[in-house]
Order: sequence, then C-alpha cells, then structure tokens
Amino acid sequence: MDSHDDSRAKLSPKSLSSPPAEGSASLHEAARRAMIETQLRRRGIHETRVLAAMGAVPRHEFVPPDFRKRAYEDAPLPIGDGQTISQPYIVAAMTVALRLRGHERVLEIGTGCGYQAAILASLAKEVFTIEYRSELATSAAERLTRLGYENVHVHCGDGTLGLPEFAPFDAILVAAAAPAAPAPLLAQLAKGGRMVVPVGSMENQELQLVERANDKFRTSMLEGCRFVPLLGAHGWKESPLR
Ligand code: SAH
Repeated sequence: MDSHDDSRAKLSPKSLSSPPAEGSASLHEAARRAMIETQLRRRGIHETRVLAAMGAVPRHEFVPPDFRKRAYEDAPLPIGDGQTISQPYIVAAMTVALRLRGHERVLEIGTGCGYQAAILASLAKEVFTIEYRSELATSAAERLTRLGYENVHVHCGDGTLGLPEFAPFDAILVAAAAPAAPAPLLAQLAKGGRMVVPVGSMENQELQLVERANDKFRTSMLEGCRFVPLLGAHGWKESPLR
C-alpha cells in the first residue's frame, strides 16, 4: 500500500539496520507453533478451541522486553513486582478444565500481565479479571486494549472477594496459590459453573476443579502446581511467617 511505502521511505538509518519486524513476527509464530506441539499436544491437551486460542494470542507481547525471546519457553517468566506469567502448559490445562463454549461470563483472580485473560477472552463472552497490584492492573489493562481484547474488564483490588455486582460467573479461574477455595468465589459461581484454583501451601499446591450443581460443590484434583501466593482477605497474609 502507498501509505506503507511512505512510512518505509522515512525510516531512519538506525531503524533500517534493526532486523525487519516481519522476521521477528515469523520467529515468534514458529516458536508458538512449536510450543503447541511439544508443550501442549504431547502432554495431552487436545481441545481444538484451547489450542487455537493458544496459537493465536501473542504471548511475547505480554512479557517484559528482556524476556521476549523466551516467551514461548516451557516455563513461567517474571513480569515484574516479584510476579510471574504462568507456564503455557498450566494456562492451557486450567483453561481446558473450565470447558468454555463461548457464551460464558468468566472471572479471573490475578490478572498479572493479562495473558491468561486474553486466552479466556478468546473462548468466552466476557471476562472480568482482578489484580491486587495496581501497576500490574494498569499495564495489563493498557496492553489488552492495545491488542484489541474488548471483552476483558480489568479491576484492581482484592480478588478473593470476587465481584458480587457482576456475579454469577459461569467459570472462575484463580491464578494464585490459595490456602483454600475462597468462600466468596464459591458463592459467586453460577449453578453448573466450574472453578479452577491452586490450593495448598505457599510453596506447593494441587490444582483443584470445583464444580457447582445447585448448592452442592464437587471438588476434584487435577495435578500438582506452583503459583505465587494469593493475598487478601481469603488468601495469605502479606508478610507470612515461613
Ligand atoms: N494470570 C496471570 C499470572 C498471574 S500471577 C498472567 O497470565 O500473567 C498471580 C497474580 O495474582 C499476581 O499478579 C498477583 O499480584 C495477583 N494476586 C495475588 N493476590 C491477589 C488477590 N487477592 N487479588 C487479585 N490478584 C491477586
């Protein structure tokens, strides 16, 4: 297009010497495809919609610039403030457990960089996500808007209290380690709804799936995991004695 050619003509010598944007975009895409194959499919994630979402969301846009090259590694990565973006496999496993079909209203606790929220937003109707740390909440909200995720609403505050004004939720994902499933979140889960939450000590947890049928809750264990601590009224105290 003409306008594109114009902007090329104006590139400074410095920007001309840096690698072409197209090249790095295709590198990220290749890394993302490899992630789907080796980290997800080979470990038993076969749900087509979840794989499609993980194949579409640009994970490298969610990590700090210094970690961009490692964005598709089989590991959690630092996102600032001592927090982490979860490993791709755990994001996929938690998402699969929620069995999203597209019509759901979803609540996430622990927005972090917003990556998990973007995956949920690709698979559900509306996503409400709460982050305790205001800097992370602000940057995640900006990032999600910039990348075009219009059905995500970022709130800042104590997510263990949920968002009663927007309840009930068809699915709830807790992205930080809880001493127990927070009672307000159980109360805000819709009948027939699903919640995934890592429950255990500050160091090690088990991923629990809580399914609500009328007023009965059925809990099943999915797998072992390690998350940063959930703070707040129904989480851990801020300066824990270890
Ligand atoms: N889902 C995130 C990763 C979450 S890391 C992503 O895709 O990047 C866990 C996050 O939970 C951290 O950002 C931490 O600040 C946040 N957190 C901890 N306790 C919280 C609480 N009570 N309410 C909301 N967020 C909380």
